Amino acid sequence: MTYRIHRLNFGSVVIDESMRLRGIAPGHRIAVPAQGFLLEGEAGPILVDAGYRDPSVLGAGGEIAPGQGFEEQLGAHGLEPGDLTCVILTHLHRDHAGHLHRVPMTVPVVVNRSELGGACTGIQGRAYAKDDLHHLIDRLYTPGALRFLDLDHPGAGEELFPGVTCRLSGGHTPGSIGVVVDTGEGEAYLCGDLFYDVEGALRNQPRDGFVAGVQPTYLAIDDPALTNNFTTSVLQEMAAAKAARQYRFVVPAHDDPGVLDRGRYVGRILGDTVPGPVTVAGES
Ligand SMILES: [Zn+2]
Repeated sequence: MTYRIHRLNFGSVVIDESMRLRGIAPGHRIAVPAQGFLLEGEAGPILVDAGYRDPSVLGAGGEIAPGQGFEEQLGAHGLEPGDLTCVILTHLHRDHAGHLHRVPMTVPVVVNRSELGGACTGIQGRAYAKDDLHHLIDRLYTPGALRFLDLDHPGAGEELFPGVTCRLSGGHTPGSIGVVVDTGEGEAYLCGDLFYDVEGALRNQPRDGFVAGVQPTYLAIDDPALTNNFTTSVLQEMAAAKAARQYRFVVPAHDDPGVLDRGRYVGRILGDTVPGPVTVAGES
């Protein structure tokens, strides 16, 4: 079974640019999109990640512009929340798990059990929104409203539907997952926040841009650049970033999808659908 993947934009999130890549000096704030993805295919429509409920939960601000509301983004594809087959969450940070209360309890939300467990320890404070976690607990006690994955070692996977498999990411948060989707033109890897800048991480690593006291530099060839936002170990994050290169499309929540050819970054998809036209690296 193959799927088309549609990018949804649930609003902007303001971050310090240095969060995108180790090697970037801090002090410059940028706005990035909080994307969700609609899988259109045999078992669809399936939503992967759901934006944030309200800018007040964000650390440095953001904006839900007209047309970026949850129902509006689904409505642009002729859907209402109750039409969804399920909602899969790569992880439960406030900019990914925000609109679940708008989804009927008859539509299951799919989460990795260890991610919900970790979120409820308060280990990352307000990176997880209280109201989002309350809602997930309500789902836990509502038959049929929540489906747990039990992915607890790198490479572990559960096929939800033919062509849609969830795998432990190994990066960003210990419970983060990636969603592997067969597109017919290769596998797409919906990787949550494993990357904020796919091209910077896999093609233009800030290898020579040493800023004193800011970052480790990348000494070895072929090492992806990491983000500055993960609660796994550096070794785990590096392994997770490398593993992502096996896929044709690397689809992060806050950047354009990257296109790879045998592990090498070759371009990005600027359009709203994956697969779609590729802007070749260096020609944009
Ligand atoms: Zn995020």
